[in-house]
Amino acid sequence: MLTQILGYPRIGGQRQLKKASEKFWAGKITLAELKDTADSIREENWQTQLTAGIDLIACNDFSFYDQMLDASLLFGAVPARYNELLADQSEEGKIALYFAMARGYQKNGLDITAMEMTKWLDTNYHYIVPEFTKDQKFALSNENIFEAFESAKKTLGEKAKPVLIGPASYLILGKEKEAGFERIDLIENLTDVYIQILSRLQQAGATWIQLDEPSLALDLTAKEKSAIQYAYQKIAESLPELKIVIATYFDALLDNTELAVALPVTALHIDLVRAPQQLETVLSQIPASLSLSLGVVDGRNVWKNNYKASLELINKAVETIGEERIIIAPSCSLLHSPIDLDLETSIDPEIKNWMAFAKQKLSEVAELKEIVKGNTALLDVNTAAMNARKSSNKVHKQAVKDRLAAITDKDANRNSPFAVRQKLHHARFQFPSFPTTTIGSFPQTDDIRQLRAQFRKGILTEQQYEAAIEAATTEVIKWQEEIGLDVLVHGEFERNDMVEYFGEQLDGFLFTKNGWVQSYGSRCVKPPVIYGDVSRPHDMTVRWISYAATQTDKPMKGMLTGPVTILQWSFVRDDQPRETTTNQIALAIRDEVLALEKAGIGIIQIDEAAIREGLPLRKAAHGSYLNWAVKAFRITASGVQDATQIHTHMCYSEFNNIIEHIAAMDADVITIETSRSQMELLEAFANFKYPNEIGPGVYDIHSPRVPTTEEMTALLRKATNLLPARNLWVNPDCGLKTRKWPETKAALINMVAAAGQIREEI
Ligand code: GLN
Ligand code: ZN
Repeated sequence: MLTQILGYPRIGGQRQLKKASEKFWAGKITLAELKDTADSIREENWQTQLTAGIDLIACNDFSFYDQMLDASLLFGAVPARYNELLADQSEEGKIALYFAMARGYQKNGLDITAMEMTKWLDTNYHYIVPEFTKDQKFALSNENIFEAFESAKKTLGEKAKPVLIGPASYLILGKEKEAGFERIDLIENLTDVYIQILSRLQQAGATWIQLDEPSLALDLTAKEKSAIQYAYQKIAESLPELKIVIATYFDALLDNTELAVALPVTALHIDLVRAPQQLETVLSQIPASLSLSLGVVDGRNVWKNNYKASLELINKAVETIGEERIIIAPSCSLLHSPIDLDLETSIDPEIKNWMAFAKQKLSEVAELKEIVKGNTALLDVNTAAMNARKSSNKVHKQAVKDRLAAITDKDANRNSPFAVRQKLHHARFQFPSFPTTTIGSFPQTDDIRQLRAQFRKGILTEQQYEAAIEAATTEVIKWQEEIGLDVLVHGEFERNDMVEYFGEQLDGFLFTKNGWVQSYGSRCVKPPVIYGDVSRPHDMTVRWISYAATQTDKPMKGMLTGPVTILQWSFVRDDQPRETTTNQIALAIRDEVLALEKAGIGIIQIDEAAIREGLPLRKAAHGSYLNWAVKAFRITASGVQDATQIHTHMCYSEFNNIIEHIAAMDADVITIETSRSQMELLEAFANFKYPNEIGPGVYDIHSPRVPTTEEMTALLRKATNLLPARNLWVNPDCGLKTRKWPETKAALINMVAAAGQIREEI
């Protein structure tokens, strides 16, 4: 029996890589210094894994920005727009090209856009999407992977296991940049390059190589399936001695099981955290030649492994195929976990005893192997922690559970249908046609951030802080009145982040000091941890929204974050279904909605920015996820009276396959992003005959560019061709917190003018 790690976080326990990269980009440190930082992170990671006693250690899982970008450079898949940079083959030139592909390049008279970035499957990690053209040719184009292996060998010896994205997934997760071909057809040429790379690694002394094929957990076309077969057949014929482990993760193999177990490789890794039920299927089909890597330790969460549950899976596999064909592993690369729980000094020790970050997960993998070999004392310690968690009153609140159990359909339905509510809203608020509003936040200037920081540090008293936030709020309200917006917002100056702000005030959440996870490049996020039953001990936003409402006679829109978004952007409990946790948050936010209503706030927006990103990887699972996600929103929104208007907001617009579910949310008004697609994406709503009111964003807030009135009027005209004019609102694509004031003011003034223009025309 062996143990292995699929990958380890590379930002460093103190986010050294982030800091060094940003300094390098700013010209404050040299390339040599940046590389030194990288070397020491790598070395430390290897030492940590060695110390933990892991048998196979991923050795070129390090990346200066992203491993898919590294692969593109390795295969020479550099888009033509970077040709001028490609010419400079100096070390500085090479890294300039690398970062240009990641971040764009505006220097020396060149202006080259970055490559597209997208979410790595269903994680919050973003990768650089490979770009392919019709005459795409791949060729071994740098030595990085060999150099990394050489240096890893010095520390790790035999244990060094190079890891690389597999050929099929590299293509499948990329994108055609021109018409007239299918990227999967590039598999033959690409496989030749893989064979070259793998044989050089083998010559250099690698015995094991890990190829990640997460696409095996996705819906695959027949062509994609045969491409996978082709690639591994060809590799096996050329390199029969090489031990390859194919890594799959984030979902079950399902209909790809037959294909996966038949691939001519040494071992197959499966994710038994996301999909424990697939073990049985895989065991029933596994040929005698294949070893199985059991991903039993959650690589994407912060909880201690439940050894007893893992051992059940391991033992079942051992009984069926024998110990020598088993590898124990985390479910996926530990890239998605925070690094070291030991660095957390202020987490409640009782709760901390239930947690494990990447470094602790290494020990878990090693300990599971020890236990299989007979060290049962390790099991006892773990069982004690599991039992403590199971019965702790920090986790379990009977009142929350009782309330959840008592939810009825009535709680998830407004009193009257939309048509009835709409009449009440128009009578109550006397909206003009095409009412104007914004999405919530206004520019978070340095001054505003300073205020919050100084209050946190105790430099400002609560009274001073609140007075300053009130002043900023009043100012932004006066300005909104002045330019003639119809529904005002308070600006969100008291909030650092739309999830953290609520998490900090809800029971059942905790915050780490160093629990950073890489999101993309040098950007890291520190998600809250939901550890217990969620409840709301006190009002969270009423103080600020009611203050804001007193500053104007115009309607003030209350601003909340929805339950799915709070769930999606946190580390969640693994001891109950996500649905249950979401419903608990839904009830807490519902109470806040009702408190706002009671305080006289007649319009309340519940942001659900993350509903779409929660979609499961397999289409067949979308429906059941959407059913509970939508229901959670409805629970949040349905306590109010008919005359209260509920808004929701989503910062994307690809609703094609989920439009019926979006409609089922039954928000009175939904605001979405549409300006970048020139309203094209509004067609999903039009085709569906979306019945409720909708504010298609008329300008892109991601850019400082100020749109003209005419541009926005033109977009609104388009919208009126698609949807009934009486249902349309006028607003930007998203909140304005990342913008500066001058462009915000200019853009909103033009936007109000565009609303005036369209009112005259229609
Ligand atoms: N109300 C939030 C804001 O305006 C919404 C942010 C978001 O959708 N990402 O900032
Ligand atoms: Zn948004």
